[in-house]
Amino acid sequence: MKQMSIRALSLIAFTVVFVIGIFSLTYLSMTRGDDWTSFPANRHIYKDGVMVNAGDITDRFGTVLATTENGQRIFNDDYYTRLSTLHAVGDFNGFIKTGLATAKWDKLTGYNKITGLYDAKKGGNNIKMTISADLNTVALKALGNYSGAVGVYNYKTGEMLCMVSSPSYDPNEKNEETDGIYINRFLSSSYPPGSTFKVVTTIAALETLPDAESREYDCDYGTYVDGELISCMSKHHTVNLRDALAKSCNAYFSQLAIDLGADTMQKYADKLGFNTPAEIDGITAKAGTVDLDKIRKVDLGWAGMGQYTDLANPLQYLTLMGAIAGGGKAAKPYMIDSITTVEGIEIYRGGVSYTERMFSESTATAVHAMMRNCVTSNYGDYRFPDLNVCAKTGTAEVDQGVTPHSWFVGFVENNDCPLAFVVVAENAGAGVGVARTVANKVLQAAKQIV
Ligand SMILES: [Zn+2]
Repeated sequence: MKQMSIRALSLIAFTVVFVIGIFSLTYLSMTRGDDWTSFPANRHIYKDGVMVNAGDITDRFGTVLATTENGQRIFNDDYYTRLSTLHAVGDFNGFIKTGLATAKWDKLTGYNKITGLYDAKKGGNNIKMTISADLNTVALKALGNYSGAVGVYNYKTGEMLCMVSSPSYDPNEKNEETDGIYINRFLSSSYPPGSTFKVVTTIAALETLPDAESREYDCDYGTYVDGELISCMSKHHTVNLRDALAKSCNAYFSQLAIDLGADTMQKYADKLGFNTPAEIDGITAKAGTVDLDKIRKVDLGWAGMGQYTDLANPLQYLTLMGAIAGGGKAAKPYMIDSITTVEGIEIYRGGVSYTERMFSESTATAVHAMMRNCVTSNYGDYRFPDLNVCAKTGTAEVDQGVTPHSWFVGFVENNDCPLAFVVVAENAGAGVGVARTVANKVLQAAKQIV
């Protein structure tokens, strides 16, 4: 009798553990099934560590960037096309986390939570992107030997036309992981924004100070804050907001940021997309960061012109440019035009959607005019033939003795050519040099296809 009850108890205990096990397995397969299926040891999807049977990835004109032939992944024949589209397309070993090959592996293989890989046996889905391979190649070549990122999008429709990260590599060759080649710098990097951040401080001022546009500050090769010098490259004397932005006066923007105060600056940095990761087609970018908590006055001065600990993400910045061009809210950038099954049935189509309003329409109009003035009065309108460019340069100090990063951000003021752009070239010096030149080359090519 005693032995029976031990057996019965054991059986009950076993049953309880079994039931818990079944529930756990079901739960895990629903929540973690995607990870298990995409694990490189899964031979239904991977052969020798390479994803097979996945559908085609094409650019906006139908140029095939990656396809499957006889169980092998094949990239485009052209060397520069492979390099310039690599970070958007992704590799098929899973190294480039934000590339479509990895981030959208389920769409490419036809994997589905309910039916698993049943449909995948027929062949995966095809993804058509909004980017142009040729435009990407123009951007990669324009960057030359500089590391960095270029993004161009249509600020009315949200379509990404160009997304390039350098350095890149040839996916047909074996590669060593050097210089962060697997990182898509457009999505997964954040850089000190330098003077491009003066646009953020300008917006904060226009939104909160009734006299923002007429407010003046003095510049004598900089300004002293609590005995510490915030230096400026020139003596700009007494300047107003519009001239200070065009001349990129550090003395002006540091004093303006201090008068706005840390709370207001933090509030607008957050509203303009800092501290929240941007997203494109469900792929998460690295967040830009601005943290003004318990900040010293002089550091707030530096932060107001894009130094201190400020960091900007290129996708976030592109969206901000879209918001200025778009009257205070942006068309969200997207890069997947459509997804179709092997039978040709469209199962997804990208389209325009908008961010929350970041600032008022009147603020957008004022910043727009000031950024246009930056080009006409300082950077040189003639350097952008047949484009009405509105822009801001940035020369972002990194470490002592290291050449600064070169930034050029803005948009084209033309209803027939609604392009917004971000260029960052690492350690390339003044924004008005390398980044501006890259931007013009890419915009001239983008104008032909928009
Ligand atoms: Zn100055």
